[in-house]
Amino acid sequence: SDVFDVYAIRNDFPILSEKVGDKQLVYFDNGATAQKPQIVLDAITAYYSKYNANIHRGVHHLSQVATQAYEDARALIASCLGVSNSNEILFTKGTTDSINLVAFSFGELLKEGDEIIISAMEHHSNIVPWQMLCERKGCVLRVIPMFESGELDIEAYREMLSERTKLVAVTHISNALGTINPVKKMIDWAHSVGAKVLIDAAQSVQHMSVDVKDMDCDFLALSGHKVFGPTGVGILYGKEELLNQMPPYQGGGDMIATVTFEKTTYNTLPHKFEAGTPHIAGGICLGKAFEYIKTLDMGAIQKYESELLEYATGRLLEIEGMRIYGEAKNKTSVISFLIEGTHPYDVGTLLDKMGIAVRTGHHCTQPIMDFYKIPGTIRASFAFYNTKEEVDSMINALNRAVGMLK
Ligand code: PMP
Repeated sequence: SDVFDVYAIRNDFPILSEKVGDKQLVYFDNGATAQKPQIVLDAITAYYSKYNANIHRGVHHLSQVATQAYEDARALIASCLGVSNSNEILFTKGTTDSINLVAFSFGELLKEGDEIIISAMEHHSNIVPWQMLCERKGCVLRVIPMFESGELDIEAYREMLSERTKLVAVTHISNALGTINPVKKMIDWAHSVGAKVLIDAAQSVQHMSVDVKDMDCDFLALSGHKVFGPTGVGILYGKEELLNQMPPYQGGGDMIATVTFEKTTYNTLPHKFEAGTPHIAGGICLGKAFEYIKTLDMGAIQKYESELLEYATGRLLEIEGMRIYGEAKNKTSVISFLIEGTHPYDVGTLLDKMGIAVRTGHHCTQPIMDFYKIPGTIRASFAFYNTKEEVDSMINALNRAVGMLK
């Protein structure tokens, strides 16, 4: 069905009825982090009040219950992402940690002159680890250019690919512009020259259903906190064959098979990449967040969010001097904008006084800001629990703010 009852959904998120001072909270900073449904909040309390224990090494009851819950969460997340082998799902600290794991570990397999391709619209976390790898290994970083519309020049990308290309690391959806990149085609092309592909999915699972096997990427990174789960936990998907070839990222407990002072042998997947006590509650509760998403109709959500985006775009353009950055045909849930004659920080501060949470600044995408020759934008980013009424509140607040500032 494509009937989507946003008001019923909102009841699942207690924070949405909070006030900021005496104003009703309007939360439009979902690109930075999303709010949590009651089922996730309850799971946090249940874990710490009923079965908190360290996992994978205890014979006692609580340890077994916690281990089972943690591994069940891994299996559920795998199945939600279209992955049948849960050894391919690694728990990490988040997208940043997942990308660093690949840069350090897969990076060990690269050599001088090998090329890594990223794009002009990457988050700093999908730029800096590759620059560090290039420094370490003498690899070459290449950047797919972007058009004024905020779409990648994929013909230029095609030209860039060669047998020197070892890895393409590209975002599925831009957190600053909302652009949805044609990743499936980009992955196909990369594979045709033998390169591997990492997809930064930090902004995608919360807006569309993602089938990793259908996409056929080699790695995929995401953050728990952006998909209605806790902070401090995330996922790295990697093809088993590839993960098996890669050296461990960090050494410590849990990632070993045997340790002596002469030689250590490593554990099998996924443990080889999970040194130390993980964020146990985080992993379990991220499983709950996926369980929650699974109860929703992602098709209906995508349609609802597109309507919300279109509505908000139209209403914003009624404001004099409005400039929206990012006009990709294929776009979702993010609007970055500036209003002529005002500073984004001043607008953001005034909006906050009226209960509206937006983000101002470069959104960890300084190269995008340099591309448009601006210091930053105001960014409203939506989730499926946002409404047209909230958009109207933002428009009223913006009109008042502009009146005060101009
Ligand atoms: N990539 C993208 C596209 C993002 O939006 C973000 C978070 N803003 C990240 C990577 C980094 O995620 P985290 O800070 O949760 O590691």
